[in-house]
Amino acid sequence: MRTVTMKFGGTSVGSPEAVSNVVNIVGEAVAAGERVVVVLSAMSGVTDALLNSVKMAAAGNKWDYLSTARRLRDLHEDTLNRLMSPSRLREKTAAQISLLLDEYVEICNAINVLGEATPRIVDSIVSFGERMSVRMVAAVLAQAGVNAVPYEAGEFLITDGLHQKATPLWDETQAAIEQKLLPLLDEGIVPVITGFLGKSLDGAITTLGRGGSDFSGAIFAAYTNSDELIIWTDVDGVMTADPRLDKRARVLPHVSYQEVGELAFYGAKVLHPKTVQPILDRGIPMRVRNTFNPSYPGTLIEENGTPSATVVKAVTSVRNVSLLTVSGKGMIGVPGIAGRTFLAAAGAGANILMISQSSSEQSFCFLVTDITAQEVKAKIEGELGAEIARRDVDRIEIQNDIVIITTVGAGMRGIPGVAGRVFGVMGANEINVIAIAQGSSECSISFVVEEADLERAVIALHDLALEAVAV
Ligand code: ASP
Ligand code: MG
Repeated sequence: MRTVTMKFGGTSVGSPEAVSNVVNIVGEAVAAGERVVVVLSAMSGVTDALLNSVKMAAAGNKWDYLSTARRLRDLHEDTLNRLMSPSRLREKTAAQISLLLDEYVEICNAINVLGEATPRIVDSIVSFGERMSVRMVAAVLAQAGVNAVPYEAGEFLITDGLHQKATPLWDETQAAIEQKLLPLLDEGIVPVITGFLGKSLDGAITTLGRGGSDFSGAIFAAYTNSDELIIWTDVDGVMTADPRLDKRARVLPHVSYQEVGELAFYGAKVLHPKTVQPILDRGIPMRVRNTFNPSYPGTLIEENGTPSATVVKAVTSVRNVSLLTVSGKGMIGVPGIAGRTFLAAAGAGANILMISQSSSEQSFCFLVTDITAQEVKAKIEGELGAEIARRDVDRIEIQNDIVIITTVGAGMRGIPGVAGRVFGVMGANEINVIAIAQGSSECSISFVVEEADLERAVIALHDLALEAVAV
């Protein structure tokens, strides 16, 4: 019997129409004899609203969370009422959702009184989105005759205690899934599990970071040994470029794990960057499919994506980044400055997106997100204080009107001249390239241009990728 893990994103459970598509998709798989694990996001917009209400509550605003609670109650109840005929199950589910929202208001009251929320409390607030959506969708599925039961991920997905960006404890998670989730599948239950959430060893609800329910889906697929992971979303698949930047963007039928990893890391919004991690070793194929166009096959992601005839498969970009440059004539041949700089950046909680060094060693630069840039600079200035005083390091500069552009394609490996072609295109379009980096995997080339050049650069490079799809 095939086992399939299906993750549905926020828009896929975001309206009565969307939820009825989910019911059809899951119902068909069950009717075809598949064992199905369902992993859900919160209804679209709910996570944002919850997070925002925490800020407002801490700032003394009661009205915001009280009205958010009312609105979320209506949203879920309305969906239940439109999709279910009156029944005990419908009443029971509405009552459960209402209780969760009462609890939400209570915690917000506490935040309101204290004037602040710890990351642990933020996680407990933000968890309500997924906890409501699984109850709602499981009830609608049950009415349609599917043996669906809602579950909180904390029963199976155990994490460290790093709230808001928790990491799974793999062994504990594997054991819990094998001991508690697999028997449910054997009984013919279709578990409907909260994405995004886990539980730490001391029993607190944790979250895996924004967009983390893709990652949840992959974790459940891995340890239930699923034959396939399907990420159901609101686009037809992984695209050659962002369709908002270039209308010619097309869906890629095949992509490798590695390619999709680079695409996600460098700005393609379709998948959380960690999604491939749990399924990679096990070689579980993943598909990205559209809940609103379910007959379309989507993008298949597996070990070896079909290499394309031309080498550039897709182009992505990351905005809201800052380039930090550390420069100084006294840095030549002094070991450890780069190492200390990156440790200082890590100390500011910054994720380094790209690194590049000029061969003269008089400067090196790296990219972090805009929001962390100032703090990173301050931390580095602290760390390199002695070098700065001695003038070995002249300055640390921030430039923030820039973007990272990445071209991805496994076919680049070992083919000489790809970089030349990519930068030739930039040259021909008179686009100034500020910094360059190529990953050692050779499956992507990233570089930095001014934000004003973004659209032209993407369109020009996309020409290279489109030739590939046409083949
Ligand atoms: N609901 C969470 C978020 O919006 C997790 C997810 O949708 O993947 O970030
Ligand atoms: Mg999402």
